[in-house]
Amino acid sequence: MSWRDLRCGELRTEHIGTRVTVAGWTDTRRDHGGLVFIDLRDHTGKLQLVINPERAAEAAGIAHDIRNEFVLQAEGEVVARAPEAVNPGLPTGEVEIQVDRVTILSRSTPLPFQLDEENVDETLRLKYRWLDLRRDRMQRNFRLSHTVIAAIRRTMDDLGFIDVWTPSMTRGTPEGARDFLTPVRLQPGRFFALAQSPQLFKQLCMVGGIDRYYQIATCWRDEDLRADRQFEFRQLDLELAFAEQQDVLDVLEACVVASFEALGREAPARPFPRLTYPDAMARFGTDKPDLRFGLEIQDATGVTRGSEFGVFAGAPCVRFLVAPRAFSRTELSRLEDVAKQWGAKGLAYIVVDESGEVRSPIAKFLSEEELSAFSAEPGSTVLFGAGAEDVVARVLGGLRLHLGRELELMETGEELFHWVLDFPLFEQEDDGRWTFTHHPFTAPVAGVEEWDEANPAGVQGQHYDLIWNGWELGSGSIRVHDVEVQQRVFRTMGLSEEEAQSKFGFLLEALAMGAPPHGGFAMGIDRFIARMAGEADIRQVIAFPKIASGSDPLTGAPTPMPAEVLRELGIAALPTKDA
Ligand code: ASP
Repeated sequence: MSWRDLRCGELRTEHIGTRVTVAGWTDTRRDHGGLVFIDLRDHTGKLQLVINPERAAEAAGIAHDIRNEFVLQAEGEVVARAPEAVNPGLPTGEVEIQVDRVTILSRSTPLPFQLDEENVDETLRLKYRWLDLRRDRMQRNFRLSHTVIAAIRRTMDDLGFIDVWTPSMTRGTPEGARDFLTPVRLQPGRFFALAQSPQLFKQLCMVGGIDRYYQIATCWRDEDLRADRQFEFRQLDLELAFAEQQDVLDVLEACVVASFEALGREAPARPFPRLTYPDAMARFGTDKPDLRFGLEIQDATGVTRGSEFGVFAGAPCVRFLVAPRAFSRTELSRLEDVAKQWGAKGLAYIVVDESGEVRSPIAKFLSEEELSAFSAEPGSTVLFGAGAEDVVARVLGGLRLHLGRELELMETGEELFHWVLDFPLFEQEDDGRWTFTHHPFTAPVAGVEEWDEANPAGVQGQHYDLIWNGWELGSGSIRVHDVEVQQRVFRTMGLSEEEAQSKFGFLLEALAMGAPPHGGFAMGIDRFIARMAGEADIRQVIAFPKIASGSDPLTGAPTPMPAEVLRELGIAALPTKDA
C-alpha cells in the first residue's frame, strides 16, 4: 500500500476525473454548513479537500473532529472547482478533491503557536522546532541548504577532491577558541578535545598522499554564541597538495559560483577582486570590509604633521572619512558615541553645510593646506581619527560601517565577494608576546624561511580570507611543510621545544617524513547558506541550534550528570553559582 499517489502541491487540472489518495497535514478546516473544506499541506504546497455529507457521511463525521495539524489520508475524485471558487494564487487552485474516505493518521494537541503566526518568540520556536520546521520559511531554507551543499559536493567531485572523514575526538586544535572536552571512561582523568577544525588531520592527509581532501566537517568551538556563531557548526574544509594560493582560491570561487548557479541566481564574476590586508586596514579599517559602498578612509598623517591642532600634530596616525551629509549637532554627538565604542577618545569633525558654510570646532586651527586636503563638498562631514594606527583603523572602520547602515549605502542588491590577502604571519598580543595571525601552520611568503624570532613584525604570511558583503566566510593558507620552519614558528610563539614536541610532536614527525607543499581553506557553510537564504542569523539554517545562553530549548541540554556517572569518568563537578 502506498500512503499517497502524489504530494499535496502536485495536484493539477490534468488529474481531473481520476481518483487519488493524498496525505498531509491539516492546514485549515472550514465548516460551511454541512460541507467541510480542508486545506491539506505538505512541503510542496496545499490542496483543497471537500467533504460533502451527502456523498460521504462517514468522512463528514470524521471531519468534524479534525483540527489543525492533524495528519490525514484522504481518497476521492479530482474535480474542477466552480469558476468562482478558483484560487489563482495557488498552483492547485483550479481543482479540489471530492472526498469519499478520510482517515486520521495522527492527531495533534493544541499548538503552542500557529504556523502562520509572525514574530513567535525564538526560544518557543526552537522548543517546538518540529512545528517550526513545517513553516514555509524553514522548508525553503533547508531545501536551499541542500541544493547549495549538493552543488558544492558536485564541484569538489568534479575537481578531483575526495571526501575523507576525520575524528571529532582529538587533541586540542589551536583555532583560537576554547575546546569542548570529552572525558574518557576507560582512562579516567583524561580528556579528548572536540576538534575546532580538522586542520592537522587534513595536513596529515596531504603527507599521506591524499592530494585533494575535502569534507563538510562539523567543528566545535567554545565561544559566545552570536548571529554567526554556534558551538557546533559546519565548514567546507579542504586541502590540496602541490598547490599554490591561486589553486586554493580557484576551488573556492568555483564552489561559490556553482552554488549561485544551482539556485538559478546570477553568479558573481570571477576572479573575485582582491585586496591586501594592509590596504584593507588602511582604506576600510577592517580585514573584512564591505565593499558595496565607498566611504573610504583617507590618510592625513603627512599633511597634519605641523598642525596647530595639537591632537593631530602629536598623533602617530591621522585619518578621516567624508560622509555625504552635513550632520546636525545631535547626529554628531551620536556618532561620537559610536566612535567611543570603538576606542576613540572623542570625534573631531568638519561639517560643510549645503550652503558651503563650515561648522567645526577645530577648523580655526587648521591651515589652508590641511583644509584643502580634506576636500569636503557642500553637504558633507569630515570625521577624523587620530592616535595609534590600529585604534584609528578600528574607530574609522566602525564609523564607516555604522554610516553605511545609517545612510543606507549598503543594501545595493549587489553580491560582492572578494579576497583579503597578504596578512602578517604574526601579531603581537597586549602582553607583548607574538602569536599567529591565522594559525601556527600558516607558511610565510615563499622565500622567507628565517626571521627575527624576537620581533617578527613585518613577516608576511600566505593567509587569505574570503569576504562576502562584509561577512567573513572563511580563511585558509598555504601551510608550512618544512619541519625547521614549523619549529621556528612555534619558537616565535614562545613555545619551548618540549612544549612543541608534546603538543605537536606528531605533526613535526610527519613533516619530517616527506610532506608535500600544500594549502587549503575552510568556509563556514552555515554562514554561507544563511546569507544565500537572506537570513541574518545562522540559527535559521541550522535544524536544531542552541540559543544565546548555549542551551538547547528542545531537549533541555545541557543537563547536570548524576554523581555516579561523573565518578565513573573520574570527574568531580565543583558547585556552581546556581547549584
Ligand atoms: N582550519 C582553519 C579554520 O578552521 C581553516 C584553514 O586554514 O584551512 O579556520
